[in-house]
Amino acid sequence: MKADTQSTDLPCFDLHMHSTASDGALSPQALVELASQNGVQLLALTDHDTLAGQAEAAAAAERLDMRFIPGVELTCRWNKRVIHLLGLNIDPDHEGWKGYLEHLSCLRNQRAEKIAKKLIGKGLPDNLLEQAKALAGDGQIGRPHFARALLEAGLVSSESEAFDRFLGQGKPGDVKAEWPDMSEAISQVQKSGGYALLAHPTKYNLTFSRLRILLAEMVAAGVDGFEIAYPGVSQEQIGLLMRIADQHDLQVSSGSDFHTPKHRWTHLGRFPRVETHRHLIHALVAGG
Ligand code: AMP
Ligand code: MN
Ligand code: MN
Ligand code: MN
Repeated sequence: MKADTQSTDLPCFDLHMHSTASDGALSPQALVELASQNGVQLLALTDHDTLAGQAEAAAAAERLDMRFIPGVELTCRWNKRVIHLLGLNIDPDHEGWKGYLEHLSCLRNQRAEKIAKKLIGKGLPDNLLEQAKALAGDGQIGRPHFARALLEAGLVSSESEAFDRFLGQGKPGDVKAEWPDMSEAISQVQKSGGYALLAHPTKYNLTFSRLRILLAEMVAAGVDGFEIAYPGVSQEQIGLLMRIADQHDLQVSSGSDFHTPKHRWTHLGRFPRVETHRHLIHALVAGG
């Protein structure tokens, strides 16, 4: 295992970002190009529930002499709560992905129809689904496409207002979907040779004691670790998370969760630095 003192030799990296294959604003190629301009040398594309952007991003990274780590951010369930599982260094060609991701795509399409129905029932425009689908294009449809459709229709003044009023938990467009259990997501990531990590642990509105329970259950299901550094996490939270990582001997990861250049609070390659031998970057770099 590498010592912390070697971390200055590490490449500039980013292990969490989105393209137009899911709810990001940039094509996989444009995203990788922007990452390169920002000085990123090693990156993972982690679109929600799809691997459709991987080949384009990998090709762009190769042209720019960057290291590309295939990745995904899987929507899954813990009890009744939706959580996100990062799969890093997966094999996108593993036979298990096709069925797994087709199922998620069906769930997303069915949920989109239900969201539209509920919101139209509340007096929102009849063409909402059509607009959201147009914004999603060939990518996986998600709530952010509804948020953008509402913004473009002038019904909200920001995407976050769309979540606050219509799409967030307990709001009129909140639709439950039967996402796979987190244990299934962990298992699929690991079957394909990847590391399975809970994404942004402090973003689920859980108290730290609930979060400890979630992580203990994920450890029992074989999880490899969790994200420790991402925009919005505080130094105090990082400290608490590090203690959990030590307690369960887990790996940690970091990334920007970049979606769009319009969000001025996220930049590719930017997130709090956490120096620890537990960081997955050491294993990725050592893996060649
Ligand atoms: P979905 O996977 O379709 O349910 O959408 C989840 C995505 O919506 C997240 O990955 C974020 O990109 C975005 N999102 C969630 N909550 C908010 C919010 N309050 N404001 C803006 N975007 C959000
Ligand atoms: Mn997203
Ligand atoms: Mn997420
Ligand atoms: Mn994300």
